[in-house]
Amino acid sequence: MNVLDLIQKAQQTHQLERAEIVCLLKEEENAAFLFKAADAVRQKYVGDEVYLRGLIEFSSYCKNNCCYCGLRRDNQQAARYRLSKQEILDIARQAADIGYKTVVLQSGEDDGFPPQRLAHIIQAIKKMGLALTLSIGEKTREEYALFRQFGADRYLLRIETTDKALYEKWDPGMSWDNRARCLRDLKELGYEVGSGSLVGLPGQTLESLAEDLLFFKSIPVDMAGIGPFIPHPQTPLGAETSAGHFTLALKMMALMRLLLPDINIPATTAMESLHPQGRLLALQSGANVLMPNVTDMASQERYNLYPGKVHTGSDASLYLNHLIEKLNGIGRRVHFSPGFHGEYLRRNAGK
Ligand code: SAM
Ligand code: SF4
Repeated sequence: MNVLDLIQKAQQTHQLERAEIVCLLKEEENAAFLFKAADAVRQKYVGDEVYLRGLIEFSSYCKNNCCYCGLRRDNQQAARYRLSKQEILDIARQAADIGYKTVVLQSGEDDGFPPQRLAHIIQAIKKMGLALTLSIGEKTREEYALFRQFGADRYLLRIETTDKALYEKWDPGMSWDNRARCLRDLKELGYEVGSGSLVGLPGQTLESLAEDLLFFKSIPVDMAGIGPFIPHPQTPLGAETSAGHFTLALKMMALMRLLLPDINIPATTAMESLHPQGRLLALQSGANVLMPNVTDMASQERYNLYPGKVHTGSDASLYLNHLIEKLNGIGRRVHFSPGFHGEYLRRNAGK
């Protein structure tokens, strides 16, 4: 089958074989058709609406040592902070006041937050009428169950790569099987589950990226975030390059939309760090979600995952207006709702 036929097959059936995915990831000349097809599928299944999640980066402490991440345990130069319960609740309240319907609590894997303390923070945020997503790494099934019981709706845990040996090389001391166990537990506990890949890790092959997409389909995930890998100078992978990662991540994202047509796909901040229009291009190639940072500026600057991370300024309301304008410029509009998986199709059923 030629490339255009493959794109058409994906657009119509939402199925591709591994070798077919590899072929489309390799493709350069017709990549624009892939992006266009993903955009059409996005419009059909999730509409022109863009869902917003307010991101709260509440701790930069991490007990893990992922070789790509600026928050890794051995990075002595990383600025560490941990927000108090009151600080987190104040940020969530401000986000709710300006219109956000979901917040994401994200951090390094920080044992300084005992599960019970976190559960009470979750409960207090839920009382504000917000949907709540957690992105705090690998936990036990019991901890996930506790957070769910206290109201957490969604969980983001990227598998990073399905190449087990590569994962364990760049995430020393961690186990791929345990990460996959976490995703299964989260699904069984009734969370909306988000996963995703880090695209451009040294040693990663197109075959393994294709495997990532099939893995997400097999779970199946409710959300998937694809981020280009951006080398951080204070990490063991600091001398690597990010050349080519943006386009490859965009292709992965477009293929994800074709294979899982109704899921939520964020235009990731890392895309904007590599390309000035990165998130708008992502939104025109399959994405339908943005996760603006609502954390205070001092903390945002210290949550230094990779260089060039986009900061949103100290006025979250001003930034929101700026985003709305940008989105309107490409014919899209913010939909102020929790933005659950399938929400658009349910709302428009029978219309
Ligand atoms: N600690 C939790 C975890 O690892 O799941 C959540 C926070 S972690 C900072 C969120 C994501 O940041 C990771 O899943 C990883 O894909 C991404 N990340 C870390 N370092 C990065 C880098 N150098 N370039 C791009 N993304 C990076
Ligand atoms: Fe910690 Fe997550 Fe960074 Fe790994 S990616 S070092 S777990 S914050």
